[in-house]
Amino acid sequence: MPLSFGQSGSPWRGTAPAAEPIAPTPEYLQHFHSLVHSRQQQKSAGYVMERMSQQELDKKRRCGRCNMRHTNLPCKFHPGALDSRKQWTCCNRTAFKIGCESEAEHQVRIYAPGELEQRWRFEPTPTYYLNSSDTRRAVAIDCEMGTAYDGTSELIRVTMIDYFTGAVLVDKLVWPDVEMMHYNTRYSGVTRFDMQTALRAGTCIRGIRNAKAELWRFVGQDTIVVGHSAENDLRALRWIHSRVVDSFLIESALKKESDMREGDGNEKEKEGQPFKKRPEDGLSLKAMAMRKLGRAIQVGGRKGHDSLEDAIATRDLIHFRVVELMAAAESD
Ligand SMILES: [Zn+2]
Ligand SMILES: [Zn+2]
Repeated sequence: MPLSFGQSGSPWRGTAPAAEPIAPTPEYLQHFHSLVHSRQQQKSAGYVMERMSQQELDKKRRCGRCNMRHTNLPCKFHPGALDSRKQWTCCNRTAFKIGCESEAEHQVRIYAPGELEQRWRFEPTPTYYLNSSDTRRAVAIDCEMGTAYDGTSELIRVTMIDYFTGAVLVDKLVWPDVEMMHYNTRYSGVTRFDMQTALRAGTCIRGIRNAKAELWRFVGQDTIVVGHSAENDLRALRWIHSRVVDSFLIESALKKESDMREGDGNEKEKEGQPFKKRPEDGLSLKAMAMRKLGRAIQVGGRKGHDSLEDAIATRDLIHFRVVELMAAAESD
């Protein structure tokens, strides 16, 4: 089956290649469905599977000075402010760099009543869209995130394509619910200017709940959601979904198998510890797309990632795996 090339459009940038349609034959679906992870696999990979308890919410509290969790001592912070080039005025370091001053203890950040509950309200895929004609069999998603006022990651762009037809279902900027420290432009590809332009033009989605509502027009509880380390995307959306195929998890498992065959399986990993992302393992979406699809993605330099390009690459990687499984079944 051919993989996707050619040009089509991101509604607001237009650089990603088009996704070729895939025929959902019974044989294809059988192998595709075999890739869906169990609840336990999702859990150990860091997917949020239940609404957050008070204890978990308390762990979301951050220091008012350095934005780190309270367990992360000492407190290293920047006494200055971020300037327009996203550098700290105190030391000229970039926004990401660790604080230039240090204190033994953190500073308590005061949250408004209900603020944490509001921000971390996870919701499962609703049942009431189940019979909608818009509901897709499978979709692929990718999100871009910026950094909120308190140092946590915040959704700023969401993309969803139909896994089989390749149609772009949603590809929009999301105007954040909270104040932002910066948009992580180097990675997200989204600038403050993009966001303000989209707001003025009325083309962005306002907030996470509305973003989810747009996605859920196409997703029911049975819809398979494909993503690469999608626990991050689903967390950014505060979305609980239990039919997931994750290209990072699939490739990690394959790599683990081949490492063990070669006899250098890491003891710690054998005990079922959650996978850690290590770029040297070649499990980044960029490395996998090059290795398996011969496709260069995320090469926009300063423009960062493009969630449409990434969603298509993720979907094509899973397609590649299904085709492999079908070929293996045939040769048996
Ligand atoms: Zn601190
Ligand atoms: Zn500093």
